[in-house]
Amino acid sequence: MVKNIGLVWLKDDFRIRKNYALIEATKNHNHVVTFFLFKKKKFENQEAQKWWVSKSLINFKKKLNEYNISLEIVKTDTYKNFFEKLFNKKNFSIYWNKTYEPDYINFDKYLSKNFKKNNVRFNIFKGNILNEFDQIKKNDGTPFKVFTPFWRTAEKFYIEKIPPQERKISKCQSKLLFFKNTISENEIIPKKNWFKKFEKYWIPSEEHALKELKNFITNDIENYSEGRNFPYTAGTSKLSPYIKHGQIHVETIWEECFKINKKGVEKFLAEIGWREFNHSLINYFPHMLRGNYSKKFDKFPWNKNLKFLTAWKKGLTGYPIVDAGMRELYSTGWMHNRVRMIVGSFLVKHLLINWVEGEKYFKSCLLDYNEANNVSGWQWVAGCGADAAPYFRIFNPILQGEKFDKDGNYVKKWIPELKNLPKKYLHKPWEFKDENILKLGLDYPSPIVIHEEARAKALNAFKKI
Ligand SMILES: Cc1cc2nc3c(=O)[nH]c(=O)nc-3n(C[C@H](O)[C@H](O)[C@H](O)COP(=O)(O)OP(=O)(O)OC[C@H]3O[C@@H](n4cnc5c(N)ncnc54)[C@H](O)[C@@H]3O)c2cc1C
Repeated sequence: MVKNIGLVWLKDDFRIRKNYALIEATKNHNHVVTFFLFKKKKFENQEAQKWWVSKSLINFKKKLNEYNISLEIVKTDTYKNFFEKLFNKKNFSIYWNKTYEPDYINFDKYLSKNFKKNNVRFNIFKGNILNEFDQIKKNDGTPFKVFTPFWRTAEKFYIEKIPPQERKISKCQSKLLFFKNTISENEIIPKKNWFKKFEKYWIPSEEHALKELKNFITNDIENYSEGRNFPYTAGTSKLSPYIKHGQIHVETIWEECFKINKKGVEKFLAEIGWREFNHSLINYFPHMLRGNYSKKFDKFPWNKNLKFLTAWKKGLTGYPIVDAGMRELYSTGWMHNRVRMIVGSFLVKHLLINWVEGEKYFKSCLLDYNEANNVSGWQWVAGCGADAAPYFRIFNPILQGEKFDKDGNYVKKWIPELKNLPKKYLHKPWEFKDENILKLGLDYPSPIVIHEEARAKALNAFKKI
């Protein structure tokens, strides 16, 4: 046992199980203090996330109490300002898990250099990923740019690794406080009414994440390959916000899936694979966080149309499947993957609005927002990413609706104005002519663009680059 205090910097790691930094700290120290750095600026454009984080802090603090570990929230302008004051203190060792974003990876280098210089014991651990991104490369040592060979290699590499014995967190002697000027979780809880709705859908805790995984594995995974396309049914796991905030480690998901070995597991794990791929991409090609991965898109003549952008954000484009998705996003902080692709394609290809605008709006609304998946998801849709959808793949919002929401249940759930429409008009309400049931333009908007015209315009514009 080391006599001094073990500090653990919590970022996106609100879990006990497979929290490698926390496990090691409790092994080495009688007293462990975890801390979360509250940077107001971090949440300026990520408002929904602030709700999730504040609830996670409340729930995780309760859990840590059972192990005599304290959780302190420290307010700071920048991480650098906070750590600069810590470097010359000597009464602690510090532990944290990696976050796989270029800014964090660079900051780890800065911290390592300074802790070393000041003779402070520090330990950095594997974060929420299956493989460290620099472990997976092509035979010639260069990074993968295409998903399928990436995942084939990554999956094999992970399977062949000798699994480390699962270690558990130990109970500490007693709780201690370490920092001055801490704030309470209540100071972080956002005041806006918007977030109240989220309470209906989510419980941001590790227990709940594990429960959701179990539910999904028991009831839905067998039908995942098919079911994942239908937004009205419980076809996907809805684990993304829990993964993002580290309430569940992807290694735990992997292990639980293999225990049951049902049909659907392979496809499900391949989606986790996309997350790994995206993290690898942004670290090897960080320019894609600031713009197009594919430079030829830099010349694309995007349309700056605020009226269209606002209609899209509000779910008032006149295309039911698009509007239902945008309303689901605003109400729940989450949107089904199939619908993310449809609304994304609509913004970029039907409205010719730069994907960056969509990325920004998703960032502010998504509880599962993460840099790697969001930036890559948007560039996949726009066609400017690595291994992206080709520019000529333009989702037809009517056909997509008719195929994946055949009975219109998803549309009726999020657009109650349309609930009395006969099924055959639910994805094209402009063809319905009974004003006693629907006054188009009043109850629900007319389409803001005509599909065929928009498609032709998009193909023309994309062909030019
Ligand atoms: C435009 C766009 C933006 C997106 N932004 C995000 C984002 O900010 N955060 C985010 O986590 N996902 C994002 N995705 C990917 C995907 O839509 C979500 O991960 C998925 O909908 C989450 O639901 P689920 O947990 O039920 O997924 P499941 O189908 O149950 O999949 C399990 C897990 O695999 C990962 N995953 C699934 N699909 C994908 C995918 N296509 N790409 C990468 N990882 C995937 C997620 O971690 C997910 O939780 C985006 C996709 C698009 C098209």
